[in-house]
Amino acid sequence: MITPFKTIEDGLVLFKGEKILAVGRENDTKIPKGAKTINASDKTVAPGFIDIHIHGGKGRDVMEASYEAINELAKFLASRGTTAFLPTTVSASHGDLSNAVKAVKSAMEKGTEGAEVLGVHLEGPYINLEKRGAHDAEYVRPPSLDEVRELLEASNRTMKIVTLAPEVSGSKELITELRKLGIVASVGHSNATFSEVLDAIKHGVTHAAHAFNEMRGFHHREPGTAGAVLVREELTAELISDDIHVHPASMKLLMRVKGTNKVVLVTDAIEAAGMPDGEYKVGEKDVIARKGVCRLKSGKLAGSTLTMDGAVRNVMKSVGLPLRTAIKMATINPAAVINVDENKGSLEPGKDADIVIIDDEINVYMTIVKGNIVHKV
Ligand SMILES: [Zn+2]
Repeated sequence: MITPFKTIEDGLVLFKGEKILAVGRENDTKIPKGAKTINASDKTVAPGFIDIHIHGGKGRDVMEASYEAINELAKFLASRGTTAFLPTTVSASHGDLSNAVKAVKSAMEKGTEGAEVLGVHLEGPYINLEKRGAHDAEYVRPPSLDEVRELLEASNRTMKIVTLAPEVSGSKELITELRKLGIVASVGHSNATFSEVLDAIKHGVTHAAHAFNEMRGFHHREPGTAGAVLVREELTAELISDDIHVHPASMKLLMRVKGTNKVVLVTDAIEAAGMPDGEYKVGEKDVIARKGVCRLKSGKLAGSTLTMDGAVRNVMKSVGLPLRTAIKMATINPAAVINVDENKGSLEPGKDADIVIIDDEINVYMTIVKGNIVHKV
């Protein structure tokens, strides 16, 4: 068992209803009479994965703005070990964003048949046109406090992260407002210089979207957004560990410099995840998935087909990290970024019974969300 603060041989986790009651060695833990048991021998028991940056999967997209799409996505994610996630939007019209956050809100209220929805990650539209990646240029726009307030209301205050470019005029006010509201301001799709990021940190930026992707790169005299992400301890950093978005050597660099407590594995997956190669969409843009790599017609990377089990597997193989470290970056680290670590992200008494059972190759055998088995092989 990996909690992930420690590894327990012959571990046992006892849960009742939604909550974990006890975690320890099997021999030291008293099992109440009549308790049902799930045998996970020869397997590893870990906290469920938390994906704070995901646009879609299994042919469904958050921008469909329907409960059904999010529920189907939630089921797919659970089959890959994810127990909680932030449905993530892309730059779109105000109406489309409003509908998307309303659908996320309804999925939170109704609950899903798979992974739990923890809130919205608004990626864009207040990003830098030059670093828009697969975001539609038509919808990239300067920050509007009024719009953010409207979207926040539409989401019933469930917005958890806003990814923005701090160098764009009007961003400082937005970051200040987000800090007041307790929403994580994340630097991403940004061409900010090193000093512009430092200034953004002063205003309240605490996180960085997909490190190295669509951010001003490192130069030894102008360390750029990437340099600030690397050296500033105030920032946590997302990493898409699919070996495609970031070279393994750059992944290693990120881990070594930031330390594994500050790096969060994310998928940034789109609807092509869990699907055969073919033609898909991200927002309104056409995407071609070939050998699992998603690109716009222009050749630009456009999200991924990564799943959290794969993210954990790859980071172990490519960076040579031990399982416990990889699991930490997929569980307690993301939980801490969005301030849900009091209830989620580790196997500890009092926390939600969000549990995954995996083998040495990180194949998922069972996924438990708040005490309910939502996936079983
Ligand atoms: Zn992005």
